[in-house]
Amino acid sequence: MKTKKIIHAAGKFAEPFRVEKGKRFRLKDVDPGDTLEFKDADKPRAKEALAVGVQALAELQDRLYAQDKWAVLLIFQAMDAAGKDGAIKHVMSGINPQGCQVFSFKAPSAEDLDHDYLWRCMKVLPNRGHIGIFNRSYYEETLVVRVHPEFLAKQKLPSELVTKKIWKERFEDIRNFEQYLTRNGVVVRKFFLHVSKKEQKRRFLERIDNAEKNWKFSANDAAEREHWDDYMEAYEEMIQSTASEEAPWYVVPADNKWFTRLVVAAAVIETLASLGLNYPEVGEAKIKELAAAKRALLKK
Ligand code: ATP
Ligand code: MG
Repeated sequence: MKTKKIIHAAGKFAEPFRVEKGKRFRLKDVDPGDTLEFKDADKPRAKEALAVGVQALAELQDRLYAQDKWAVLLIFQAMDAAGKDGAIKHVMSGINPQGCQVFSFKAPSAEDLDHDYLWRCMKVLPNRGHIGIFNRSYYEETLVVRVHPEFLAKQKLPSELVTKKIWKERFEDIRNFEQYLTRNGVVVRKFFLHVSKKEQKRRFLERIDNAEKNWKFSANDAAEREHWDDYMEAYEEMIQSTASEEAPWYVVPADNKWFTRLVVAAAVIETLASLGLNYPEVGEAKIKELAAAKRALLKK
């Protein structure tokens, strides 16, 4: 398929799930089971489309790397078992590992807690020419930390700074931080993989019943289901408050893994395509240098 056609198709899959500033965002308006026009029987066709997309992504990444100007930061947030790891693995499968960096953010260490919350993320921002992936991110500071006040208490913040306004302040700081990144050539795209509570239960049961998946199961993840509604509320407000034109959220239906991957790939293709990436042009001096090197090589 021609690149133009792929980019057009990518827009078709990514756009319906893009949240920008301004629109009132309601999580309940996004159906976790949505697959657009694809039916279950179309799964092979969707997988083929993903393979084409992955190939296109590899080509775009090669230019990003060669041009060495833009950096791309992809942020993944989701409830447990929504398929973050699988989406990252599949969508990035064709990419040159040299140009890609993945970081997973777990509960903060003692050293992390001795700093402001962006510190640990800033240290691992992607280099120019690279795609950086955050598997969870500073957004946890408005999610798990909000749902569990005991985590906020551990943050050693001066008590006069912890007021009712803290979440609004964090949203504002994150918006400003992402604007700062954008102004420095770091392109930010954020993905919330939206899985339903029912499908999460099915996946947890599968992790228990299938010996090869046992290692993925954590009793703690299952216990977090008790806070499901609090998480959904936190996600909704977070997305509404931090979706911006330059750093949009994609709220991706996640009950069907094959569809999730297609939408994520589409959004990344669209993003890279929007950067007008090209291989650096070589100047006259370089052309002369190449010609001289060729002559020398052919002589021996
Ligand atoms: P997996 O699919 O392997 O379960 P995961 O991203 O859930 O991947 P975990 O090893 O379960 O990885 O650890 C992530 C945990 O760390 C999550 O429960 C998350 O909420 C928590 N976490 C991340 N950031 C913070 C934070 N700033 N404060 C407290 N907890 C955090
Ligand atoms: Mg987990």
